[in-house]
Amino acid sequence: MIYSYFAAMKSYEKLLEDNKEWAHNKVKTDPFFFDRLLHVQTPQFLWIGCSDSRVPPNEITQTQPGEIFIHRNVANLVVNTDVNLLSVLDYAVNHLKVRHVIVCGHYGCGGIKAALTNHDFKHVLNMWLRNVKDVYRYHRKELDDIKDEDKKVDRLIELNVKEQLMNLAKTSIIQRAWQNEYRPDLHGWVYDLKDGIINPVLEMKAGTPIDELYKYGDL
Ligand SMILES: [Zn+2]
Repeated sequence: MIYSYFAAMKSYEKLLEDNKEWAHNKVKTDPFFFDRLLHVQTPQFLWIGCSDSRVPPNEITQTQPGEIFIHRNVANLVVNTDVNLLSVLDYAVNHLKVRHVIVCGHYGCGGIKAALTNHDFKHVLNMWLRNVKDVYRYHRKELDDIKDEDKKVDRLIELNVKEQLMNLAKTSIIQRAWQNEYRPDLHGWVYDLKDGIINPVLEMKAGTPIDELYKYGDL
């Protein structure tokens, strides 16, 4: 018990130590690194990804601080009542003027796997994962026909990314930006934990026609 307490303390203290070393090394190789980032933030990309610790956006795209605006949640969902996500989207599109919004899922996603079970994860997680179950229901015919369980999960992961991209296009935030400034393009990607490669699964260029039902005529 005592040992594990100290072990835990050491692990988070190490984060702070490593941070100091990182900051020191940054300045050593690039003396103006922090000065440059201090007053301006002009990322071209908004990244909506899974919270999974194995999919760190900057590391897998070899980007630096300042290059990607990031929002992450369980199973990289775009939920139209999620004030957190919509605030990030609004800020990224209307203030940072990003040119690309990326929804990046990943094969082997625990959130997607959990949604495929009938397990009761209790209130909040049940509510969240319900969105993934809905994606399954929209594509039930295709998914039910896949007998291999892993392949079924992988396909649902791809379909979920596509569905979240469409959820973005349904927002007035994206529709207004498409109409007035012809940006941002939307990109649906899936990262493969096995080899580290990102596979594009859907692209929606700015202005891509969407179902009439979701269009706002008085933007
Ligand atoms: Zn995940």
